[in-house]
Amino acid sequence: MRREIPPRSGVAFVLAKGQRLTVIDPQGEQVADLLAFSQVDTDEVISSGRTLDYASRLFLTVGDSIYSNRSNVLLRIVEDTVGRHDFLLTPCSADTFRIIYGDEAPHRGCFGNLAAALAPYGISPDRIPVAFNIFMNVTVDSRTGELRVEPPLSRADDHVVFEAEQDLIVGLTACSAPQSNNYAFKPIHYVVS
Ligand SMILES: [Zn+2]
Repeated sequence: MRREIPPRSGVAFVLAKGQRLTVIDPQGEQVADLLAFSQVDTDEVISSGRTLDYASRLFLTVGDSIYSNRSNVLLRIVEDTVGRHDFLLTPCSADTFRIIYGDEAPHRGCFGNLAAALAPYGISPDRIPVAFNIFMNVTVDSRTGELRVEPPLSRADDHVVFEAEQDLIVGLTACSAPQSNNYAFKPIHYVVS
Protein backbone atom coordinates (compact mmCIF):
# COMPACT_ATOMS: atom_id res chain seq x y z
CA MET A 1 0.00 0.00 0.00
CA ARG A 2 1.30 3.43 -0.97
CA ARG A 3 1.19 5.87 1.96
CA GLU A 4 1.49 9.66 1.92
CA ILE A 5 3.48 11.91 4.24
CA PRO A 6 1.86 15.36 3.97
CA PRO A 7 4.07 18.39 3.31
CA ARG A 8 6.28 19.45 6.27
CA SER A 9 5.46 16.37 8.38
CA GLY A 10 6.93 13.00 9.36
CA VAL A 11 6.16 9.44 10.39
CA ALA A 12 7.82 6.49 12.12
CA PHE A 13 7.19 2.77 11.61
CA VAL A 14 8.78 -0.66 11.96
CA LEU A 15 10.65 -2.12 8.98
CA ALA A 16 11.41 -5.81 9.50
CA LYS A 17 14.62 -7.47 8.37
CA GLY A 18 14.34 -8.35 4.68
CA GLN A 19 11.52 -5.88 4.01
CA ARG A 20 11.94 -3.16 1.43
CA LEU A 21 11.13 0.51 1.83
CA THR A 22 10.41 2.45 -1.36
CA VAL A 23 10.53 6.24 -0.95
CA ILE A 24 8.84 8.10 -3.81
CA ASP A 25 8.93 11.79 -4.74
CA PRO A 26 5.45 12.05 -6.30
CA GLN A 27 5.77 15.58 -7.70
CA GLY A 28 9.54 16.10 -7.97
CA GLU A 29 12.10 18.30 -6.17
CA GLN A 30 11.09 17.11 -2.68
CA VAL A 31 13.51 15.85 -0.02
CA ALA A 32 12.74 13.08 2.50
CA ASP A 33 14.89 12.68 5.63
CA LEU A 34 15.41 9.04 6.62
CA LEU A 35 16.48 7.68 10.01
CA ALA A 36 16.80 4.05 11.07
CA PHE A 37 17.35 2.63 14.57
CA SER A 38 17.86 -1.01 15.51
CA GLN A 39 14.55 -2.18 16.95
CA VAL A 40 16.20 -4.43 19.56
CA ASP A 41 18.48 -1.65 20.85
CA THR A 42 17.70 1.92 19.84
CA ASP A 43 21.18 3.02 20.93
CA GLU A 44 22.19 1.65 17.52
CA VAL A 45 21.39 4.12 14.74
CA ILE A 46 22.57 5.05 11.25
CA SER A 47 25.91 6.85 11.18
CA SER A 48 26.85 9.36 8.51
CA GLY A 49 30.48 9.38 9.62
CA ARG A 50 30.97 5.63 9.49
CA THR A 51 29.00 5.19 6.26
CA LEU A 52 30.88 7.90 4.34
CA ASP A 53 34.18 6.66 5.76
CA TYR A 54 33.57 3.11 4.56
CA ALA A 55 32.18 4.21 1.17
CA SER A 56 34.99 6.76 0.68
CA ARG A 57 32.44 8.83 -1.26
CA LEU A 58 29.90 11.53 -0.43
CA PHE A 59 27.22 10.50 -2.90
CA LEU A 60 25.67 7.11 -2.18
CA THR A 61 23.52 5.05 -4.54
CA VAL A 62 22.71 1.46 -5.59
CA GLY A 63 25.05 -1.05 -3.99
CA ASP A 64 25.95 1.20 -1.07
CA SER A 65 25.20 0.26 2.54
CA ILE A 66 24.13 2.52 5.37
CA TYR A 67 26.11 1.57 8.48
CA SER A 68 25.27 2.10 12.13
CA ASN A 69 27.33 3.70 14.88
CA ARG A 70 28.38 0.10 15.67
CA SER A 71 29.47 -0.54 12.06
CA ASN A 72 26.64 -2.95 11.28
CA VAL A 73 24.74 -2.53 8.02
CA LEU A 74 21.19 -1.35 8.76
CA LEU A 75 20.03 -0.62 5.21
CA ARG A 76 21.19 -1.31 1.67
CA ILE A 77 20.26 0.84 -1.32
CA VAL A 78 18.91 -1.56 -3.95
CA GLU A 79 17.26 0.82 -6.45
CA ASP A 80 17.80 4.53 -7.11
CA THR A 81 16.42 6.50 -10.05
CA VAL A 82 18.15 9.76 -9.06
CA GLY A 83 21.61 9.03 -7.67
CA ARG A 84 22.01 12.26 -5.73
CA HIS A 85 21.31 12.34 -2.01
CA ASP A 86 22.93 13.99 1.01
CA PHE A 87 24.36 12.41 4.16
CA LEU A 88 26.22 15.44 5.53
CA LEU A 89 23.64 17.88 6.85
CA THR A 90 21.53 17.68 9.98
CA PRO A 91 17.71 17.47 9.80
CA CYS A 92 16.20 20.94 9.37
CA SER A 93 14.84 22.28 12.66
CA ALA A 94 13.44 25.33 14.40
CA ASP A 95 17.07 26.30 15.04
CA THR A 96 17.90 25.92 11.32
CA PHE A 97 15.10 28.29 10.42
CA ARG A 98 16.09 30.74 13.17
CA ILE A 99 19.83 30.72 12.39
CA ILE A 100 19.88 30.39 8.58
CA TYR A 101 16.58 32.00 7.57
CA GLY A 102 16.14 34.48 10.49
CA ASP A 103 12.65 33.15 11.15
CA GLU A 104 11.21 34.50 14.42
CA ALA A 105 8.41 31.91 14.75
CA PRO A 106 10.05 28.89 13.15
CA HIS A 107 8.48 25.62 12.05
CA ARG A 108 9.76 22.59 14.00
CA GLY A 109 11.24 21.16 10.79
CA CYS A 110 12.25 17.58 10.06
CA PHE A 111 13.97 17.41 13.45
CA GLY A 112 10.78 18.25 15.35
CA ASN A 113 8.70 15.99 13.11
CA LEU A 114 11.12 13.09 13.62
CA ALA A 115 11.27 13.68 17.38
CA ALA A 116 7.46 13.60 17.63
CA ALA A 117 7.14 10.50 15.44
CA LEU A 118 9.91 8.61 17.30
CA ALA A 119 8.77 9.52 20.84
CA PRO A 120 6.29 6.59 21.05
CA TYR A 121 9.25 4.25 20.39
CA GLY A 122 11.15 5.65 23.38
CA ILE A 123 13.66 7.57 21.24
CA SER A 124 14.45 11.03 22.61
CA PRO A 125 15.35 14.08 20.47
CA ASP A 126 19.00 14.04 21.56
CA ARG A 127 19.41 10.62 19.93
CA ILE A 128 18.61 11.94 16.44
CA PRO A 129 21.75 11.90 14.24
CA VAL A 130 22.41 13.22 10.75
CA ALA A 131 19.65 11.75 8.59
CA PHE A 132 20.11 10.19 5.16
CA ASN A 133 18.56 13.02 3.15
CA ILE A 134 16.93 11.33 0.18
CA PHE A 135 16.87 13.51 -2.97
CA MET A 136 18.71 16.37 -1.18
CA ASN A 137 21.18 17.93 -3.60
CA VAL A 138 24.18 19.33 -1.75
CA THR A 139 27.17 20.24 -3.88
CA VAL A 140 30.72 20.57 -2.55
CA ASP A 141 33.38 22.87 -3.95
CA SER A 142 36.39 20.58 -4.33
CA ARG A 143 38.87 23.32 -3.43
CA THR A 144 37.23 25.21 -0.53
CA GLY A 145 34.74 22.55 0.61
CA GLU A 146 31.94 25.13 0.39
CA LEU A 147 28.52 23.45 0.57
CA ARG A 148 25.60 24.61 -1.55
CA VAL A 149 22.04 23.37 -1.22
CA GLU A 150 20.69 23.12 -4.76
CA PRO A 151 17.21 22.07 -6.00
CA PRO A 152 16.75 18.27 -5.91
CA LEU A 153 17.42 16.43 -9.18
CA SER A 154 14.34 14.23 -8.58
CA ARG A 155 11.39 14.44 -10.95
CA ALA A 156 7.84 13.13 -10.45
CA ASP A 157 7.79 9.47 -9.37
CA ASP A 158 11.52 9.16 -8.92
CA HIS A 159 12.24 6.74 -6.10
CA VAL A 160 14.81 4.97 -3.96
CA VAL A 161 14.43 1.43 -2.58
CA PHE A 162 16.13 0.34 0.66
CA GLU A 163 16.34 -3.19 2.05
CA ALA A 164 16.49 -3.69 5.82
CA GLU A 165 19.38 -5.79 7.12
CA GLN A 166 17.93 -5.81 10.66
CA ASP A 167 14.58 -5.17 12.32
CA LEU A 168 14.42 -1.38 12.31
CA ILE A 169 12.45 1.58 13.56
CA VAL A 170 12.39 4.03 10.68
CA GLY A 171 11.69 7.77 10.78
CA LEU A 172 10.78 9.46 7.49
CA THR A 173 9.75 13.02 6.60
CA ALA A 174 8.61 15.28 3.83
CA CYS A 175 11.28 17.93 4.40
CA SER A 176 10.31 21.40 5.65
CA ALA A 177 13.30 23.49 4.54
CA PRO A 178 12.58 26.03 1.77
CA GLN A 179 16.00 25.93 0.08
CA SER A 180 16.26 22.11 0.10
CA ASN A 181 12.98 21.72 -1.79
CA ASN A 182 13.30 24.56 -4.31
CA TYR A 183 10.94 26.69 -2.18
CA ALA A 184 7.82 24.49 -2.50
CA PHE A 185 6.65 22.00 0.13
CA LYS A 186 5.29 18.77 -1.35
CA PRO A 187 4.30 15.33 0.01
CA ILE A 188 6.43 12.19 0.04
CA HIS A 189 5.06 8.73 -0.68
CA TYR A 190 6.38 5.42 0.64
CA VAL A 191 5.69 1.72 0.34
CA VAL A 192 6.76 -1.09 2.71
CA SER A 193 6.90 -4.46 0.95
ZN1 LIG B 1 14.07 18.94 6.46
